[in-house]
Amino acid sequence: MDLMKPELLRKLNKLIEDDEVQKFYTWKEYRFLRSKAKIRDNNECQMCKREGKHGQYGACHHKEEVREKPELALTLSNVEILCKYHHNIVHPEKLNATPVFMNEEWF
Ligand SMILES: [Zn+2]
Ligand SMILES: [Zn+2]
Repeated sequence: MDLMKPELLRKLNKLIEDDEVQKFYTWKEYRFLRSKAKIRDNNECQMCKREGKHGQYGACHHKEEVREKPELALTLSNVEILCKYHHNIVHPEKLNATPVFMNEEWF
């Protein structure tokens, strides 16, 4: 499933250019993708699951970062549900980032 359309990709590239990527997380297309990911992943952390544990929803994480691969920003296979603990592990850079970026996937 891929919800990305040429005009959306243009809009997203503009957000990246203007350093306003956080706005992407308010798009209805992203919210739809996230709802699909939550259903697919049973709303539990996929890294915890691989360790045989249950982890609560913390973030809808992009495996290929939105800033790096905007064309994959709305691809279901590029996102997975992670708990806050594991999301911090895959994003060590976010620990020291400003709050607005630290929380952008945490809805
Ligand atoms: Zn986890
Ligand atoms: Zn992430």
